[in-house]
Amino acid sequence: GLVYLNGEWLVPEQAKVSVFDRGFLFADGIYEVIPVYHGRPFLAQYHLDRLHRSLAAIAIPDQPDAFWQSLVVELIDRNEMQNGLIYFQVTRGAESKRSHLPQGPVTPTIFASISPLELHWDTPEPAKVVLCEDIRWLRCDIKSISLLGNIMLKQYAQQQAAIEPMLHRDGSVTEGASSNYFAVKDGVIFTAPRDNLILPGITRMWVLELAQQLKLPVREEAFHISELAQLDELFLTSSSREVQPIGQIDDIIIGNGRCGPLTQKLIEAFHESKRAHLA
Ligand code: PLP
Repeated sequence: GLVYLNGEWLVPEQAKVSVFDRGFLFADGIYEVIPVYHGRPFLAQYHLDRLHRSLAAIAIPDQPDAFWQSLVVELIDRNEMQNGLIYFQVTRGAESKRSHLPQGPVTPTIFASISPLELHWDTPEPAKVVLCEDIRWLRCDIKSISLLGNIMLKQYAQQQAAIEPMLHRDGSVTEGASSNYFAVKDGVIFTAPRDNLILPGITRMWVLELAQQLKLPVREEAFHISELAQLDELFLTSSSREVQPIGQIDDIIIGNGRCGPLTQKLIEAFHESKRAHLA
């Protein structure tokens, strides 16, 4: 496949970044992930808007929408990709003097690649997650490439044979290491509000939209870890997992461990919206 780096299209082995790049030295950068179905980006504008917000939040110079849009199109075309995930990675760039504070105007490093993704139309088996204290920083709304907390938490989850950690701050569930959580109790869907404690997932936004279309009651309110044993349903969302039912948190079984009816409805609605996108 071909990747994009600072204006050039290269085979991955030829794509090289300076050891003085501030992304390498300080994780001074952001990223974005866009799913591609049937050769077309899904919910692309929402992803590009989030990319703009991430760059603005850390004051890295941005490019116009048209630049990112044509990068999306070219990545798909040059790699003849039907279904995949596009990765944009933008750092503040390379400087000759090592200094936490940027020394002056720097040219950002822009890297873009696409990797294949299997399209699925089934209902995934309910999975296990583990409860963890959210040890990350307080600007989780920025899609930062500084992911140490997320990686440590994911490694812990893997050791417990879980697909994701379920993160909480002072008992309020925030999100996963790379996903957003939704809980169902007495017919109402709960998910953490959009603030600095979560990444505003595009799949989260889309599921909220689908729930509204289905007239399912939704509250953007964090649920508490003391309520977990009483939940009727639980699922998580992300661009790569879409809607993933959760049947177990540590030793707590949620709703007999099976995919609940509202989760099932949303999975079907999600598939339906993908089908509409392919048409
Ligand atoms: N929360 C975090 C911390 C993430 O890293 C991600 C995606 O990787 C998500 C949520 C889900 O976001 P999206 O639905 O846009 O993929």
